[in-house]
Amino acid sequence: MNAPAFEPVRNSTVDVVVIGAGPAGGHAALKIGNAGFRVVLVDEANEPGGQVWRALPEQLRTRSQDMSPDRIRGDSMRAAIAASDVDWRAGRQVWSVLREPSGFRIDLIGQNSSETIRARALVAATGASERTVPFPGWTLPGVIGLAAATILLKAQHVLPGRRIVVGGAGPLLAAVAAGILKVGGNLVAVVDLNGAGDWARAGGAILGRPGLALRGAEWIGRIIRAGVPIYRRHAVVAAHGQTSIQSVSLAPVDRTGAPSAEGHVHVDADALAVGNGLIPAAEIPRLLRVDQRFDRVLGGWIPVTDATGRTSLENLYVAGDSAGVLGVDAASAGGEQTAETVINDLNGTATTSVLAPGFDRAGRFGGAMARLVRLRPAQVAAIPPETTICRCEDVTRADIDTAIADGADDINQLKHFTRCGMGPCQGRFCGDIVGELLALNRSQTTDEKAVDRERTAIGYWTARVPIRPVPLAQMVGAFDYEDIPVPPPAPL
Ligand SMILES: Cc1cc2nc3c(=O)[nH]c(=O)nc-3n(C[C@H](O)[C@H](O)[C@H](O)COP(=O)(O)OP(=O)(O)OC[C@H]3O[C@@H](n4cnc5c(N)ncnc54)[C@H](O)[C@@H]3O)c2cc1C
Repeated sequence: MNAPAFEPVRNSTVDVVVIGAGPAGGHAALKIGNAGFRVVLVDEANEPGGQVWRALPEQLRTRSQDMSPDRIRGDSMRAAIAASDVDWRAGRQVWSVLREPSGFRIDLIGQNSSETIRARALVAATGASERTVPFPGWTLPGVIGLAAATILLKAQHVLPGRRIVVGGAGPLLAAVAAGILKVGGNLVAVVDLNGAGDWARAGGAILGRPGLALRGAEWIGRIIRAGVPIYRRHAVVAAHGQTSIQSVSLAPVDRTGAPSAEGHVHVDADALAVGNGLIPAAEIPRLLRVDQRFDRVLGGWIPVTDATGRTSLENLYVAGDSAGVLGVDAASAGGEQTAETVINDLNGTATTSVLAPGFDRAGRFGGAMARLVRLRPAQVAAIPPETTICRCEDVTRADIDTAIADGADDINQLKHFTRCGMGPCQGRFCGDIVGELLALNRSQTTDEKAVDRERTAIGYWTARVPIRPVPLAQMVGAFDYEDIPVPPPAPL
């Protein structure tokens, strides 16, 4: 089979590269571009919008009746980018970022092209990835992430299955459940890690955003009217089936998220959408070795920034969920305020870090939601030994416990002992859980504060390129063995 033909590597130099065209990166690029700077906006998706404002595929666009606020805001941002001077690079993955004396070198790959862009300043607005707390059977076909289900429903108009259970925590739970019902899907159970008391504690922040509160109430109303059982303070503890999922086990959990050994409920299902919040996608700042800190509520390890997204590395900024998961409105406002800072820094205008209007309120709401979806140490502590933790490298909890017993007591050692985090996702999905397991072992308690201290002490895996899988043919380019220079034999 012939290797695909790749175009020669293109090179260019601009003022600013923005990575990620979601609400944060899209707005940042527009504002920086409107200020007269040459800005490139890159995303692995084919259209701007990010996760929440994802564009519908062309063939569905005209047929869709969806005029939700997400679609309207996404369409408006896409139109603004198309009408601007922002240099939009669709369908390109950033796989390497390096610091150079004059700025940054960013390497991208597309379908059959490679490109190197140099820029004075870099904004990483790469969003978040989904967190699933593993349980036996979570890798069976038919089990998908809760956030992934939003993509299927919104962008593909596809149901995850015929008898569907949704489980996990936070607002996506009700959004996905209501979305399934809206298109006539058969939703058989909703499994919420939180109880009424947890939601009541978020009540002040929810009521501070009446529009969102109303939307949430509509979702819950639809679930109740459909008569779907809602299991509050429960968690999915197993998915059963030989070649695909056939049923799901749920268990009551206590206040800390620890599942009970009794009172399990079994539900027949051929699909399970389950998710426990989001993890900031901070691979790029991590690759550039910026200062980081651990914040359980904001999603885990995040770069240390000032209020406007400046990191510890000059001219590197982070915006949106990759700086801490606070949701779409905080991401939009954050992108705008980061752009303001980038413009001032490049112009050499002194600024203090001031929050953009709207960020505070959006951040308060996002923070309350983030508390509801935070990782619960007690839930992780209860993962049974046979459960797969790193699905890329097939590493189980028992493998991790054995490595810790054998002396792996820092996070990189654990990686070397077991290969967890060495697969194609480079630990994006398992890194948080592996860190939590090690921290739990070191702290010998499930108390969040004690586990947080250990998470901070053990740090995070050292980031390495490539941050996205890159075909070897693409890395080496058009190359022929005949072209390899062979040095003349050394004189005898
Ligand atoms: C799968 C998923 C579904 C979600 N669904 C919803 C929802 O339905 N409703 C809701 O309110 N919130 C949803 N969220 C949360 C929501 O996405 C965020 O709160 C909000 O979109 C954050 O905006 P952002 O600009 O920070 O990041 P995002 O919108 O996530 O945008 C980040 C962008 O960066 C791009 N990117 C990342 N890494 C690279 C790379 N190496 N190279 C090139 N491009 C890259 C991604 O393709 C993405 O388009 C979802 C999150 C996820 C992960």
